[in-house]
Amino acid sequence: MTGFALSHIKRIHLELTEKCNAACPLCIRTNPNGLRPQSYIGSSELTLKDIRHFLYAEIRDQLVDVHMCGSYGDPIVAKDCQEIADYLCSENCSVSISTNGGARNAAWWAQLGTILSRNHRSRVDFHIDGLADTNSFYRRNTNFKRIITNARAFIDAGGLANWEFIPFRHNEHQVEHAHNLSKEYGFARFTIKKSNWIFSEEKTKIPFTARDGTTHYLEAPSKKYLPSKDSKSMSRHYTSTSNDDIQCLALKNNELYISCEGIVYPCCWTARFARNIYLGRRTKDGFSKLFKQYGGKERFDLRKNKLPEILDNDFFKILSDHWQEKKPPICYKKCGKKDQPQKIKSSNNP
Ligand code: SF4
Ligand code: SF4
Repeated sequence: MTGFALSHIKRIHLELTEKCNAACPLCIRTNPNGLRPQSYIGSSELTLKDIRHFLYAEIRDQLVDVHMCGSYGDPIVAKDCQEIADYLCSENCSVSISTNGGARNAAWWAQLGTILSRNHRSRVDFHIDGLADTNSFYRRNTNFKRIITNARAFIDAGGLANWEFIPFRHNEHQVEHAHNLSKEYGFARFTIKKSNWIFSEEKTKIPFTARDGTTHYLEAPSKKYLPSKDSKSMSRHYTSTSNDDIQCLALKNNELYISCEGIVYPCCWTARFARNIYLGRRTKDGFSKLFKQYGGKERFDLRKNKLPEILDNDFFKILSDHWQEKKPPICYKKCGKKDQPQKIKSSNNP
């Protein structure tokens, strides 16, 4: 029986907040009909005080990487984002941040660059899907010029930055230009994220209504930026094999996820589904029911229990056996090598 033992935990995925400056139409936090936050989005946030309490020195000092991303918000919007990075980033522990890059000013970003330069593996992934005239079509409410100013301030201060680009029909003609700009501005890497979790042969166009009431469409890019046939047949192959194909990424990486409410989960995918339980929704992910059975939100809340007590719960001990026996659909989908998003990464360094 393999489980999540505290002494093995090396990585933490932190969801600092459920707030965001942007309103991407396909984001789980955005209502595509009006681009306002969904009714279930609140303002939960982790503060420096929380993080010091949850990941006290003894735990912090065993970590090698902390990733700030999450499902429902953008980490840089969290009030204490920079202070938390400062508490966690060291020569031994890298901090990576995933963001649209549109919030905060250049001085804040320069300070963050100085903090993250303590560890050469630390980085910020800027999700910029286009140029000045296209990025905000998807990354709603952001300003390209400001994002680039922020990113350059971060890079100039010693921070390592990556540019992540999702091609759609409206921006695919700019991929090469964006790649060249990423080199010019000093980004370390340019990544094309193929949108295979968004579009399919049957679904090539997705409507959304902007705040002014106008209807727009996100359209699939050309074949070049859609998943290859090979990867689709590989997915089918994995679907038909035994459940041994589930290789828990969290367990493999000795990683845990902490939500913006301070709840501990194995990963962001299971956390997303567990939220359905609080919302009283039916869920077929195969994980949430188990989570509830072992105590649910209350039992795994770091504001009520310390991490060692939480990991001592049988829930974290039986998970891997549960994967083999019960085949939770969410684990099979995410860690069964099925329909994983494809990325094309280009290093900008010679
Ligand atoms: S920037 Fe991220 S968190 Fe914010 S709306 Fe877009 S996808 Fe969601
Ligand atoms: S989806 Fe399931 S198998 Fe994958 S990392 Fe999360 S808990 Fe592990």
